[in-house]
Parts: sequence; structure tokens; C-alpha cells
Amino acid sequence: MSASAVLADLGLQVLERDWLSANHIVAPACGPAPATVVDTGHVRHADMSLALIRHALGGGLPARLVNTHLHSDHCGGNAVLQQAAQAEGQPAPQTWVPAGHHAAATTWDEARLSYRATGQACARFTVQGALAAGDVLPLGTARWQVWAAPGHDPDALMLFEPQTRTLIAGDALWQDRLAIIFPELEDRPGFAATRATLDLIATLSPRLVIPGHGPVFEDAGAALAASRARLDAFSRDPARHTQHAARALAMYHLMEVRAEPRAELLAYLDRTPLFIAMAAQLGHAGSAARQAWARGLVQALGDQGLLRTDGGDWVRLPD
Ligand SMILES: [Zn+2]
Ligand SMILES: [Zn+2]
Repeated sequence: MSASAVLADLGLQVLERDWLSANHIVAPACGPAPATVVDTGHVRHADMSLALIRHALGGGLPARLVNTHLHSDHCGGNAVLQQAAQAEGQPAPQTWVPAGHHAAATTWDEARLSYRATGQACARFTVQGALAAGDVLPLGTARWQVWAAPGHDPDALMLFEPQTRTLIAGDALWQDRLAIIFPELEDRPGFAATRATLDLIATLSPRLVIPGHGPVFEDAGAALAASRARLDAFSRDPARHTQHAARALAMYHLMEVRAEPRAELLAYLDRTPLFIAMAAQLGHAGSAARQAWARGLVQALGDQGLLRTDGGDWVRLPD
């Protein structure tokens, strides 16, 4: 059966987004499963996400939101979807988050939710439920197993449908890249958990993978091999992982703001706790050394054409 036929059988539409907003998985109501969206994108794109999701639901709104994890690119549309329902006199969608994030999301503890560490934006939403490994989630036409997927994020979850062996992977498996392993950036272990999650995915042996970013793909074996090779290189040389993460997170920030004065980008890099931790890990402790490192980072991104500088004062994404 083709990938699109499997998705149709499961009652799912995958709305592929980009690297600032994660993909949305949209399932209309079916039997015990309410109309549901898994992962809602970044707050900067929330109006676009709302329009795409509404279109996928035939003009309606979801009754339930589920997040694979609470990074700002996966749950940034939650608030606007809740507000849209209330503005139309409907109950706000029930919003279910991974159990490990539940307390922090309920009290909106930005320090524990990563938004303070990363300096990223996410609109506050309300939480009605928690999902944990071992739960079964009715979604679309099927019942999905909930699995823990620590590594990239210690509290992340994946959803697996055993009849068709379809995996909603979040950021635990992408087709040809490996997501940043955030705990390692703050001197907490993450490589071993990432390896264990890749081993778990190999055991589940998915036939179809819906990743958090990029297109749906079928060759999980090749993706696992690529992820393991990348993970091996990073765990042999953790500084390489930290350098990669610094570049990726600086680009993420630029995707959030689109353009800003170079001085503002450097100030962001200088004040943001995760960048302070990464600079220290790379041996640039103290503010003068950190600022020199940040200038070098911005210069390198410009030299590689990943960002554009206008007369030296502003930085922006390339057209
Ligand atoms: Zn993501
Ligand atoms: Zn993530």
C-alpha cells in the first residue's frame, strides 16, 4: 500500500511545514477519537497554521491538541487554536502534553519549558491532560501506542500504530539529519538516551515515518543508519555537536526574527543561557571570550551564505 493510502486509511493528513514550524498531523473526528492535531508549529506562523488546520478539517477546529514535546516549533500554535475556538463560542480544544512537561506547562514555568534557556518565543496555552509511555491514544481510525523518546528532549514522546507500523516520530527521527541533543548542551547526558530511542525505533520497525520536519518517508532503516552515524560522530567529539547546535540555534533565532541589527543578534547570543553554556563548553568562558566567539559564529554563518549582512549593520535570512 502506498504511503498516501496508509495515511488515508488511518484518517490522517500530514501538513508538511518547514524548519521553524514542525509538521502538523491532522485527524478528523472518528469514533472515539475527537478531531485532533498533533503538533501545531511555531507562534510566529500561528495564523498560517490555524488556516491550514481549519482547511484540513473542512472549516472546523480541532477538539484536541497533542504535542510530541514542547519545543517552541511544536506547540506554538496551541494558544491561537484555543483562542479561535473560544472566539467562536466553542470549548477550547483539550490540550494534552507529555507527562514530563505537564507540571511546567500548567504553571508556565518558562525556565523548565526551555523558552528561557533558548530565548525562543512561545505563546502560553492551557493544558488539560498528560500523555505517558504505555498509554493508548485513539487518533483518526486507529489506536496509537505512546512511547517515550528521550534524547533530543528528555520528555518527548512518539506515537506508533502497530497494524500499519506507522510512527509519528516528532524530532526523534528525521530522514537525513539528527536533531540537537539538548541536554548535552547543558552538561547533562543525552547521547545514550538518543541511542536507546533509535534502538527502540529499530525494534518497532516502522514502515512509514511521519517526522516532525521534512516529508513522510518509508525507509526507516536508512534514516536510522544516518542518525546513528551522526550520533557516533557527535558522541566521539561532543564539541562538534555543540558547535553544530550553536549554528543551528542561531539560525533558528534568525528564522524567528527574520532580520535584526547585528548588534541585537550579538546581544541575543551574549545573554541567552543556552549560548552562555555552549560558549563555556567550547572553552570561551567569561564575557569577552564569549562575545568574540559570538562574533566569529555570526561571521562564519555569513561567510557560508546562511545569513546575509546589509552594509554590516543588519543581518537577515537569505532571500
Ligand atoms: Zn522540531
Ligand atoms: Zn524539538
